[in-house]
Amino acid sequence: MNNLWIASLDAADRQRLEPHLAEKAFAQGQMLYDAGEAVDQVWFPLNGVVSLMTVLPEDKMVETAAIGREGLVGVTCGPMNARASSRAIAQIEGSAACCPGEVFADALSKSASMRNALARFTESLFAQIQQAAACNAQHRLDERLARWLLTLHDRADADRFDLTQSDIAGMLGVRRATVSEVGSVLEDRALIRRGRGWVEVLDRGGLEAASCGCYSAMRGVMKDLGVPRPSAPDA
Ligand SMILES: [Zn+2]
Repeated sequence: MNNLWIASLDAADRQRLEPHLAEKAFAQGQMLYDAGEAVDQVWFPLNGVVSLMTVLPEDKMVETAAIGREGLVGVTCGPMNARASSRAIAQIEGSAACCPGEVFADALSKSASMRNALARFTESLFAQIQQAAACNAQHRLDERLARWLLTLHDRADADRFDLTQSDIAGMLGVRRATVSEVGSVLEDRALIRRGRGWVEVLDRGGLEAASCGCYSAMRGVMKDLGVPRPSAPDA
């Protein structure tokens, strides 16, 4: 199982979900669900990255969390049967194993160990959202861009991934012209390379040094909670 959250469960818990899983692909930019919608399935990413976006009344939006193979998307539909509070958009194309919300809710109701694994993941997600709120308010844009690229790089399967200027602008909540300027700061230091519609990480260690402390703080939280690391080795 390429989804690390499911892989971390014991055999009995995996068996509660696996017979009900169906693989679904998602394209870059595809909306999995919107804020306010009733979500009827849980997505366990096998690869690719899904961003949770907070949508403001004036229709601006900003990313508050990124989820890859370490976690799951659509958790509100299972145990809480609540409407989504954010928009989920595929940031890097990929696929997910999906299961109906009622199956997930039923499995959780029968398994304390699965509830525990979910609590650890949701706590790490909550920490990620809190960190993003503080980061967006306090840290320089080049540091934020570095942090966000590292978050994607952890969850991508290659150093180079598809990403347009407007994707980045949307994620950071700034204008495209600003993204171009800030991207040049990282590019001039040979940390990344950009082309039309893609970004390549050239110097991972350098990018970590260029990021604000929020990136390593988040890594620490995930490690403490025992949430599987998406891909990059722990420092
Ligand atoms: Zn920060």
